[in-house]
Amino acid sequence: MKILVTGGAGYIGSVVSEYLLEEGHEVAVVDNLSTGHAEAVDPRIRFHKIDLLDRAAVVKVFDSGVDAVCHFAAFSQVGESVADPLKYWHNNVSGALSLLSGMKYAGVRHFLFSSTAAVYGEPESTPITEESRLAPVNAYGNTKLSIERLLADCRKGWGLNSLSLRYFNAAGASDIHGEDHRPETHLIPLVLDAAYGRRGELAVFGNDYPTSDGTCVRDYIHVKDLATAHLLGIDKLVEGYSGVLNLGNGRGFSVLEVISAASRVTGKEVPFRIGARRDGDPAVLVASSEKAEDILGWKREYPGIEEIIEDADSWRKRFPGGYSS
Ligand code: UDP
Repeated sequence: MKILVTGGAGYIGSVVSEYLLEEGHEVAVVDNLSTGHAEAVDPRIRFHKIDLLDRAAVVKVFDSGVDAVCHFAAFSQVGESVADPLKYWHNNVSGALSLLSGMKYAGVRHFLFSSTAAVYGEPESTPITEESRLAPVNAYGNTKLSIERLLADCRKGWGLNSLSLRYFNAAGASDIHGEDHRPETHLIPLVLDAAYGRRGELAVFGNDYPTSDGTCVRDYIHVKDLATAHLLGIDKLVEGYSGVLNLGNGRGFSVLEVISAASRVTGKEVPFRIGARRDGDPAVLVASSEKAEDILGWKREYPGIEEIIEDADSWRKRFPGGYSS
């Protein structure tokens, strides 16, 4: 199939593009490189360096023929979204509107959407299922939930098939693509940087949560397992399926558990101190991914926290300063 990947120069988009190519799909990427890296786009991919807000340019991309779209391009920093909601609403929601307009115009009916656990906000109970209350607590989550609702409207209006995949904490790397956010705010790359002395001690955001060791528990899912779910998701879309699925590891790890695992993987002490809580951090976010397992036949191959950290570490060793562009 011919698959258009928006945000294919970013972390999850680049790994999914890699898997799509391996599966024999023809891949085109749209990315404005505002946060992505040109080097993350495989030379076999047709790369359109355009902004999704440029509707005329987006419509033109569909001229070359597209069977399905995987939409990753979005701003995704929670803290920044709280401080600058207009930036997030404008970019994320208008970008999706522009892309969907291009699809409608070109008659493309299959849409795989990169959604997030942030649509649930502070959960009432865990594990979180797709039926759990939707109550985002930041602008980032609000934009993603609004797009999910827009997709449901497009299904009614013009027969769009869409699959929204709500990721929990994506982590790890493939052999060639990994995580390179600037600034980096995610726990696993920060823990590795602290272990190797690339930055000072890690601040653990609070140890007075109602969890076994007092630090927050998150559901870290290997980006390679996420990529596999996307391949299965595309097959499902083509069969005519539309819906919403959680993608998580099925178990959670506390911040201190991640730190110990990183010490075991690297053989180094991770210097850390206990700092203040970070605003908006729920104590525990763990998904039930049973629906994805049932509907997609998805099985996680890399659920261990050590193997997730090991792959993140190997990638970083291969790209010590991250991507060069
Ligand atoms: N965290 C931390 N110190 C850091 C970065 C993150 O203690 O420097 C914690 C954070 O409070 C959360 C977990 O690590 O409990 C994962 O945070 P991350 O930002 O990676 O992902 P999020 O859960 O916010 O999507």
